[in-house]
Amino acid sequence: LHLDGVPMFGEEHSFKGMLFLLQDVTAIRRLENMRSEFVANVSHELKTPVAAVKGFSETLLGGGVKDEETARSFLQIIYDESERLNRLISDILDLSKIESKRSPMDYAPVHLASFCASIMDTIGTVAKKKRITLHTEIPEELFVEADEDKLRQILINLLSNAVSYTQDGGKVELIIQERGDDEESDKVIMKVSDTGIGIPKKDQPRIFERFYRVDKGRSRNSGGTGLGLSIVKHLVDLHHGEISVESELGIGTTFTVELPMLQD
Ligand code: ADP
Repeated sequence: LHLDGVPMFGEEHSFKGMLFLLQDVTAIRRLENMRSEFVANVSHELKTPVAAVKGFSETLLGGGVKDEETARSFLQIIYDESERLNRLISDILDLSKIESKRSPMDYAPVHLASFCASIMDTIGTVAKKKRITLHTEIPEELFVEADEDKLRQILINLLSNAVSYTQDGGKVELIIQERGDDEESDKVIMKVSDTGIGIPKKDQPRIFERFYRVDKGRSRNSGGTGLGLSIVKHLVDLHHGEISVESELGIGTTFTVELPMLQD
């Protein structure tokens, strides 16, 4: 709490009393803390790939690496780390755009079956490399009122996580259903499931936080930025929807997104 006081004077400067202003600054402080914590996290996240690019290129420039195979592997690391930097920067920009509400909703009816077919094509390339089977179940006539670009990002982020955190030869599913019998409360339920490594119970409540990772090494190897799910959560909120997770270690994970079929 912040207290400010000023004396009040009447005619001929006679003292009339004090005016006090009591202000609750907790919310402002909390926001300031969140902001500086975010900046600290961002700087840390950016420093890691930059350090790798710098270190490996210095070694190469120093001429100490004689055999071509080692040189190539160093170049590959430099390339991969610059890609990571790219992804980080674009995720950070997306997140800041969404959070500062500079990203208005552009609602239109989306035909889910054809919309998801194109998303599965995109995911298919990565899934194929890992021999992961993709499966979809989407009612042919189902529409949802949504911002198409944002809905695409929700599904791409969830599906690419499902593919990343599933071992070779596993299975990833996208199942969409309609729920509700009166038109007002109709919902579209989207489930993204995998047969992957799972998320420990204690981490489940925190995975939607920015930069939260269950296992840093594991996420880095999969090229993750730690921002994917917090972007998804924001985008679901913008659609007045809900997201939840169910997961069993070593068995798999299911993310469920519920969106109102019609926006008010
Ligand atoms: P990242 O870029 O690290 O994948 P996300 O925000 O997308 O970041 O996810 C946060 C963390 O949640 C990940 O680091 C990972 O540990 C865990 N996670 C997300 N999706 C899955 C999944 N389908 N299976 C297992 N773990 C997952």
